[in-house]
This record gives sequence, structure tokens and C-alpha cells, in this order.
Amino acid sequence: MNSLYNLLIGISGGLFFILLSSFVVRARRAREYVAAKRAFIILLVMVGIFSVFFFLPLPYKEIFLLVLGTFLLIFLVLLLLPIGRVEVKKEIPIERYDERDIPFSRFRLEPGTEAFNEYYLKHPELKEKDDRIRRLPGLLSLKGREAHPLAFASSMASFQFIKDQRYRVDGDTMEALPEYREAVSDYSPAELSDWLKKLAKFYGARSSGITKLEKYHMYSHIGRGTGKYGSKIDLPHSYAIAFTVEMRNDFIQQGPGAVSVMESAREYALIAHIALQLTHFIRALGYSARSHIDENYRVICPLVARDAGLGEVGRMGFLITPDLGPRVRIAVVTTDMKLVPDEYVPDASVIDFCNFCLKCAVSCPVSAIPKGDRELIRGALKWQIDPVACFKFWNLSGTDCGRCMAVCPYSHIPLYSPGIVKFLVKKSGFARRAILRLDDFLYGKKPKPYRGVYIGN
Ligand code: SF4
Ligand code: SF4
Repeated sequence: MNSLYNLLIGISGGLFFILLSSFVVRARRAREYVAAKRAFIILLVMVGIFSVFFFLPLPYKEIFLLVLGTFLLIFLVLLLLPIGRVEVKKEIPIERYDERDIPFSRFRLEPGTEAFNEYYLKHPELKEKDDRIRRLPGLLSLKGREAHPLAFASSMASFQFIKDQRYRVDGDTMEALPEYREAVSDYSPAELSDWLKKLAKFYGARSSGITKLEKYHMYSHIGRGTGKYGSKIDLPHSYAIAFTVEMRNDFIQQGPGAVSVMESAREYALIAHIALQLTHFIRALGYSARSHIDENYRVICPLVARDAGLGEVGRMGFLITPDLGPRVRIAVVTTDMKLVPDEYVPDASVIDFCNFCLKCAVSCPVSAIPKGDRELIRGALKWQIDPVACFKFWNLSGTDCGRCMAVCPYSHIPLYSPGIVKFLVKKSGFARRAILRLDDFLYGKKPKPYRGVYIGN
């Protein structure tokens, strides 16, 4: 009997050891030192407890295994309880968003120009507020609070690369090859869809999906990028391919420090690269295609990506993906090639998590993220962040912050045992609440940014 108990203690202790030590290794690699240190302390305590009971005489071993078994049983029962059920449906905005109203478009307007005067004639209530932001140092300015010449110049380089691509997003940059056009008729829409999604990953995407292109995906009018400012948007396309790339955790956790914008810029450039290759591929088969990349969007990427089945939109307004949470960048390619859309199933687990979590809202340096419930905006239930408060902070610091993305427990999922945690977070309301408590313990309720400039070895 003694050896059986020793075996059980050894197996359960071994499992805890593997789970905790693998987390410590992953967290250290991601430079999450506070989380790694706290997990290491738990690891030492667990090793101590299991070792003591391993060497204690029989009745103590029995009591220990009984307590452990009861605890695990209660945990399993709690996992199955219907906690945190929320009703969700596909939220569809009834009005399209005008791109001219987003801060990026407003602050691009040159004072004194016709477009500037016209915009503020229509929106006099925004003029003073916007002018105050215009007086701030601005994004990537060396007068910004977080200025770092090398990090900002590196970011500028990536943004310049994207700018250089602006005339490639639209129009025919590649003659359709007649023999390709003929051969493509041998493939069904399902085969072409499968190929396109895999091709996106081959080019470097982390996830990819397809949706039918709907009117509400498109901005109503052009606010920036190529095309005439203020023109109506009506894409001649029926399908959209959305894809994501991963933002590096060790860079993001430094936000609002200088290198957080370096990572955003690099990912925007990387995903532009993927988008353009996909666009050229589709054009080579004789179809029309357009890339929607930084500074040149005609569609609202998180909404397209949601409908392509890549995730759910959370409290901070970003897409929360199952694997990386909000720690992604998104781009879209639209086309008239006939494809087979993926299914979007509204994800109640994300809405439930965001209902009680609030970590992004509490950590936002300018309280731009709401702490209340979702509200009805343009006919769709959503959390609406204050984009001007957020943008003002960016213009003050010179970076794009990303604190909300860094603290989100979903961003930490790859550092836990990803498969199990992802499954439990999706399926169990109790698990979601337990994960938040664990996240609070490991990272802190309001984790501090890493101060310093780290860009790898
Ligand atoms: S930090 Fe919490 S509330 Fe904010 S998006 Fe992530 S899960 Fe939702
Ligand atoms: S990026 Fe920064 S300022 Fe903007 S909402 Fe997120 S935490 Fe707040």
C-alpha cells in the first residue's frame, strides 16, 4: 500500500512540477520575470509539500491523498457548473463608419486646407479638442515622453516601407496570365479557399479565415490612404480574407515605452507584405483583389476578422483571438474570386471574461476603456473606447502605448499550458474566473510596464 501511495504522490507531484516548471521557462523566455518568479515560488512550495508527504508514514500519506483528491474533485465539479452564461448574438452595425471621423484621419488634415475647413465646419464641437492634441509632440516625435531616437527611427523605417507599398494595394500590378486563368477553373471555390488560407500562413500569418464581404465591413467614406479624401467607398468585391500576425510579448510588455511602437510598426510591415503577396496571387489568377493594410484601409479589420471566424471583439475593442488574445495585428484582402466563407459563432466566453475582468480598463493610463457593460452603438452591442483620449496619450508619449494589450489575460495564454487553458477558458465559466485570479497573482492586478529598452540579444 505504501508503494502505491508513493506512486500516486509521485505522479501528481510530477504533473504539478511539469506544468509549473514549463510555465517558468516560457515566462522567462518572454521576459515576464515577475510572473516567472512568482510561479517559481509556488513550484518550490509544491515540491516541498509533495516531498514531505512522500517521506512521511502511511496515515499522513493517506490524509494527503484524500485532501488532494477531494480538492481535485471539487475543482472538476466547479468546472462543469453553468457559471457566467451570457446570451450573445452576431452584432451587426446598422450604420457604416465614416473613416474621416477616426483620429488618424482627423489629425492628418492640414490646417488651412479645404478639407480641414470643411471637416470642422461640419464638426465644430471637435475643433478645440483636436487642436489641443495638435499642439502635443506627436507620434514618433523626439519630444514625446517615451522618445528614443533609435527605436523611433526603426519604427519610421517600417512605416515608410508600408507607405512605399501604397500604390500596390489597388489596381493591377500583375498581368493575369491566360494559362493560369484557364487552369484555375479546375479548382472549386472550396479548394481555392483552402489554398488561400494556407498560403497566408505560408507567407507568415498566424491565423486566417474567409467571410462574405458585407456593407457594414466597409467604411462609408475615404479618410486616408490612396483615393480621393471623402469619396464614397463601394468595393466591387464579394469576399474578404482576414489574417493575423503575432505581436511579440517581450516588446508589447514594454508599452507605452519606445519599443512597443517599433513592434507594432514591424508587424504592420510584415502583414502588409503578406497581404500584397496574396493580392498578387489572386490577380495572377485573373481576379481583382485589394490589400487593406496600415494607412490604406477601406474595411474595418477587426469586424472582418471576427466574421471570418478568427475571434471575438472584446472590451478594449481589439479582436480577442483564441491563441494569442489581442496580441495580433490584422490585415484583409478583398476579392471578387468566389470563395467559401468560414463560420463565425459569437463567442460568449470572451464576452463573459470581459464582463468581469476589467484589467485593460484599470490599466489604461488615461481611462479610455469603459468599465461598464456593452452599449448599443449604431445598432450593435459593444464596448466603445474613447479613441481621442487614447490618441492624445499616444501623441504625448510618441508611441502607440499598447498597455491594454500587454495586461490582457488572453495575451498570456501561450505562456500557460496553451491547449488545456484555451479549452478551459472557452468551455468553463469557473475556469475563466480562476484564470483571472491566477493571472492577477502571477502578473499583478495592474501589471507595471517593463521600463528600459530591450530589443533582443
Ligand atoms: S483585459 Fe480583460 S476586459 Fe480587457 S479585453 Fe482582456 S479579457 Fe477583456
Ligand atoms: S493603447 Fe494605451 S491609452 Fe490606448 S486604450 Fe490601450 S491602454 Fe489606453
